[in-house]
Amino acid sequence: MKKTKQVLPRVEQGPRPSLSFTAQRHGKPPRHLVDLSRTERRELVADLGYPQYRADQLSKHYFEHNCIDPEQMSDIPQSQRLDLVQQLLPPLITKVRDQVADQGKTIKTLWKLFDGAVVESVLMKYPDRATLCISSQAGCGMACPFCATGQAGLTRNLTTAEIIEQLRYARQAAAEGIFGEPVRVSNVVFMGMGEPLANYRAVRDALHRMIDPAPEGFGMSARNVTVSTVGLVPVINKLADEGLPVTLAVSLHAPDDGLRDDLIPINSRHKVGELLDSARHYFVRTGRRVSIEYALIKDMNDHQWRAQLLAAELNSRGRGWAHVNPIPLNPTPGSIWTASTAHATDTFVKTLTRAGISTTIRDTRGSDIDGACGQLAAEVVDRDHVSRRAAQAQAAVDARIDAHRHQPQDFDSTLAAISATHNGDDDDE
Ligand code: SF4
Repeated sequence: MKKTKQVLPRVEQGPRPSLSFTAQRHGKPPRHLVDLSRTERRELVADLGYPQYRADQLSKHYFEHNCIDPEQMSDIPQSQRLDLVQQLLPPLITKVRDQVADQGKTIKTLWKLFDGAVVESVLMKYPDRATLCISSQAGCGMACPFCATGQAGLTRNLTTAEIIEQLRYARQAAAEGIFGEPVRVSNVVFMGMGEPLANYRAVRDALHRMIDPAPEGFGMSARNVTVSTVGLVPVINKLADEGLPVTLAVSLHAPDDGLRDDLIPINSRHKVGELLDSARHYFVRTGRRVSIEYALIKDMNDHQWRAQLLAAELNSRGRGWAHVNPIPLNPTPGSIWTASTAHATDTFVKTLTRAGISTTIRDTRGSDIDGACGQLAAEVVDRDHVSRRAAQAQAAVDARIDAHRHQPQDFDSTLAAISATHNGDDDDE
C-alpha cells in the first residue's frame, strides 16, 4: 500500500498560515458505480458483455437497499453477480474502528481509503432522526488555527464514491439496528474532515447521489442535507446556481475582518461582507435559509459588541434569511483556547435574539471521542504533533489579535452605518 503524505499548512514558516487548495495525487481509487452517470453505468455493463438493465438493477441494490452483497441480489443470475459487483462495487473504504459516546447515540467511525489515507464520519441519533456528519477530504488545507483537522493539513480530495460510501455504510448500519432499533439516516452534514467546496465536483456529484431518486441516488430530501463552508465565495455562488436546494452553513466565527483574517485564513481572500453577500444570494436563489455557524471562543470572539455587529451585518441584508448557531468551542488537543463561559454565551445569544436574529445553540455531540466539529483529526498525524501545531498556530494568532479583542473606538458609528443600509425588505431582493 502506498504511503500518503500530508500537505501541511506552513504555520511555522511565515507570519500567517498558507492555504492548500491542491491535493496531492495518489493514483485513482478503483472504478465505482457511484462515480458514473446512469448512462455511463449502462455503457460499462454492456461493454462487460451484460444486458444494460443490469446497471439499473445493481444501482437499485446500492441506493434502495444499501446493498453490495452479491448473495442478496437474487434478481441477477448467480453466474453474473460476483463479476458485476467486483467490476462496479469494489470496496473503497475499510472500517478501522468505531468509537461510541453519548450513551450509544453517537458513533464515530474511522475509515481507511485504498491508498492508506484515513477519514472519519460521525453518526448521531436524535429522537426524530439520525444524522451523518461526513468527510469530503482527507485532512483539510484551510489551516483554521482552532481546528485539529486544519492542523493536520490536506492529504487529498475524496472521490464522489468515497464520500457516498460513508453514507451507504451508515444507512445500512442504522437500518440493521446499530442504535438498538432500525433507524433511517435522514440528514447529512458536510462537517467532517475537509472544506467541501474545495472539492467541488466530487461534492456536487455526491449531493446528486444523495438527493436524486433511485436508481440515480438515495432520494433524500435536499433540505436535510447541509454543506458547510468557511467561505469560498465563488464556489458558493456556483452552488447557488446548481438548482440543488441543500442547506448552506457558513462557518463565520467572527463578524469583523480584523479578527476573521486570523481565525479563518481564507478571509484574507474573501472578506466578511463579500461572504455574507454571497450567503444572502444563496438564500435568494434557493429559498433555503442559511445557517451561520459561530464557535464561541472565550475572550476571543464572544464579546457582546461582536454579537451586535453580527446582528447588524445580517439585518442589513434583510430579515429572516439567516439563522445563527453559536457552538461552544471544542478545544483541539494542545489548544490554548477554550469555550466561552455560560454567561458570555447567554449574553451573546440574547443580544442576537433581541436584534431579531433567530439563534439556536448547537450541541456538541461526541466531544468525549473527539467526534465533535473541529476535532476530526483521525490518525493522520500523531496527537503530539497536532497538539504542538495547534498551540503554535494559536499562539501566533493570539499574539496578533490583541488589537481586535476590544471594541473599536468608532464602533457606534460603524454600527449606525451598517444599520442605515438596512433596506427593511423581507426576504426578497
Ligand atoms: S474548520 Fe473546517 S475548513 Fe477550517 S481547517 Fe477545520 S475542517 Fe478545514
